[in-house]
Amino acid sequence: MQFFDSLYNLINIDVKTTILILFWGNLFFLMMAFAFLISNTHISEKELFKKFIFSKLVQALGWIAFAFRGQIPEIVSVNLGNSLLYFGFYLESMALITITKDITSIINRIQFGIMLAGVVTFNFIVICGASPSYWVGVASVIIISIYLIPAIAYVFNKNGSQFKRFLGSLQLMICIAMVFRATIGFMNKSVSLLSNNFVQSVTFLIFIFLMMINSSGFMLMIYESVNDQLKKLANMDPLTHVKNRRNFMETASTYFSFCKRQNLPLSFLFIDIDYFKKINDQFGHQVGDEALIQTAEIISKNIRESDVCGRYGGEEFVVLLPDTDCQTGIEVGNRIRKIIENTPFHEKDTIKFTVSIGLFSDIPKTDGDLDKFIANSDNAMYKAKRTGRNRLCVYDPTFVTD
Ligand code: GH3
Ligand code: MG
Ligand code: MG
Repeated sequence: MQFFDSLYNLINIDVKTTILILFWGNLFFLMMAFAFLISNTHISEKELFKKFIFSKLVQALGWIAFAFRGQIPEIVSVNLGNSLLYFGFYLESMALITITKDITSIINRIQFGIMLAGVVTFNFIVICGASPSYWVGVASVIIISIYLIPAIAYVFNKNGSQFKRFLGSLQLMICIAMVFRATIGFMNKSVSLLSNNFVQSVTFLIFIFLMMINSSGFMLMIYESVNDQLKKLANMDPLTHVKNRRNFMETASTYFSFCKRQNLPLSFLFIDIDYFKKINDQFGHQVGDEALIQTAEIISKNIRESDVCGRYGGEEFVVLLPDTDCQTGIEVGNRIRKIIENTPFHEKDTIKFTVSIGLFSDIPKTDGDLDKFIANSDNAMYKAKRTGRNRLCVYDPTFVTD
């Protein structure tokens, strides 16, 4: 018995103190999030961040209203306090679930409706004079309904990370604890918000865990998403939005190893815009840039998802076609070439431009083969230039560039 008593002491927290911790804790995370926001003004999730900060403020106000129960009018400590908390919980769970992109606007609307119905119901029963034990019961049911859908979305999402499942499990735990709390509230007339009993202790402990994990989880997930964006930017050519040369080479070497292992043919296209200097000279650099963007768009739209396109240099693009033999490489290259030739660009839709393409296809033999594929397709591209431009040439070992 003594053992269980000692164990109970571990969780036997005072409800009033816990409410104060929840107030200060939310205020602390609010300040932390605010400091992060003002020192990272470039992040694209600014609106979401503001919503999260707002949710912390609303919750802090809700908890402080609770803390003053008995010292301030009930309309503030009970009605306003509960309404603020439901609204704060809703805002926070929606902000969290939005970063992870697990939410649709329909879920958001349903959750908003649930929260609003909760606020109305709670205020209604208080105004109608229901006993404080009923307040506890109804409040618990409302909290379950606010957390249940996000919790299920986290726990059962197959693509979710381990962290998200942990977050969802904690939200589910709050729901389970609330079932007990609701039962006690509906059965036992002497229970109120500040009663100290086992279920209350467990519930408020979970509230503290939830506050910590929700807040640090939000910051971590934002940080992860900012990092992903930076990584994407570092790998992309800023003008044409295809892979930059470094990232193309990295991706290409993985494909090379794969085709080498599987003994699959690989085709490599080297694409160079014809007389590009003239476009720049005649119409200006900006029009030249538009031609580059259009070329990258046409190439990207006309290759498979598993093919890789990159900007190799000024007006040169490279395309790697894994598991593609020479004949298919010729078809893909010529398709791209014809579309570019027939697509006018810029407002002056009389302007057209063409490309010359070099192709080299083979089964990669060694890891160093990537350089050979680039050099040979480049050589084939020069042949296309020499023999009249706006054409595709396959690598010819007898052709020598000077
Ligand atoms: P060819 O048919 O032989 O390929 O002739 P070309 O004029 O296309 O080739 P050249 O190598 O003489 O000229 C390439 C030009 O591309 C020179 C350079 O100013 C221009 N260029 C390189 N990068 C950019 C860019 O980002 N934007 C624009 N507008 N022009 C660029
Ligand atoms: Mg060139
Ligand atoms: Mg050129």
